[in-house]
Amino acid sequence: MDQGDTDNVHFPHRHLLGIEGLLPEEISILLDRSESYVDQNRRADKTTPLLHGRTIINLFFEDSTRTRTSFELAGKRLGGDMINMSVATSSVKKGETLTDTAMTLNAMHPDVLVVRHPDSGAVKLLSEKVNCAVINGGDGSHEHPTQALLDALTIRRRRGTLSGLLVAICGDITHSRVARSNIYLLNTMGARVRLIAPKTLIPPEAERLGVEVFHDMETGIKDCDIVMMLRLQRERMSGNFLPSIREYFHFFGLDYEKLANAKDDALIMHPGPMNRGVEIDTDVADDVGRSVIREQVEMGVAVRMAVLELLALNPDNGGNA
Ligand code: ASP
Repeated sequence: MDQGDTDNVHFPHRHLLGIEGLLPEEISILLDRSESYVDQNRRADKTTPLLHGRTIINLFFEDSTRTRTSFELAGKRLGGDMINMSVATSSVKKGETLTDTAMTLNAMHPDVLVVRHPDSGAVKLLSEKVNCAVINGGDGSHEHPTQALLDALTIRRRRGTLSGLLVAICGDITHSRVARSNIYLLNTMGARVRLIAPKTLIPPEAERLGVEVFHDMETGIKDCDIVMMLRLQRERMSGNFLPSIREYFHFFGLDYEKLANAKDDALIMHPGPMNRGVEIDTDVADDVGRSVIREQVEMGVAVRMAVLELLALNPDNGGNA
């Protein structure tokens, strides 16, 4: 990668708290920059010293495997000092408030905080208390911006564009920050979004999000270019959202029979972690001709490198780009 390019790229925001409100050209800046990291990540030597001397803290108040690892790799490949703060052993368990945690970390002069939190809005709150850039690594059922960006990068590389595509997002929409961030991004970039789920898993505000809503897979998936499956987030469900898992798979699980309604070359996506046999049939998930689920993970590192770089080196953030 030509590191001189950095000087000409400016992302005009201090934080990345969500996709909502970003302009198409701002999303394109992030995607174009991510693209430049894909090749670098495929080389034997994957590192560059762009963020040498910068401190990035992964602050995860909720479990995560791929997002946390992905940010960690991204920070290290940019030469930054990457710290993982484990909440299980932190003072949060001893009763410290979110604000106190923020103030404590702030005093250590990090350049970027990557924050995941079980409550919607908590990451924004924290961003208002610190001096550094904040990246939302997923807040409650609100937003997960880097997931939507990596999904968009995966689609754009396969299809050349996002504009004009018909994308079905299927499953547990109500509890999904991935769905919300993807809806904002896809709508902004000119794709058409369909949501497919049982009535209990479609949030009341869905109609206002500029999407079409379907309650049966066959009709909803018809002629779609992309079929994005979501995990059933049982840890966020209190009460009866579903009759049974078997029935859910029967009506809403993606198998070859339902997939036959989509375009012949429709891509299958899933943000992970997957519940095989619940929202997706295992053979469909592993179908190398159709499923881009592993590619999504690969694109995740490139996207997080781009976001870390553009925020850490943003002169408005006190960075010395
Ligand atoms: N990994 C994604 C998230 O953190 C999706 C999921 O957990 O189902 O939102």
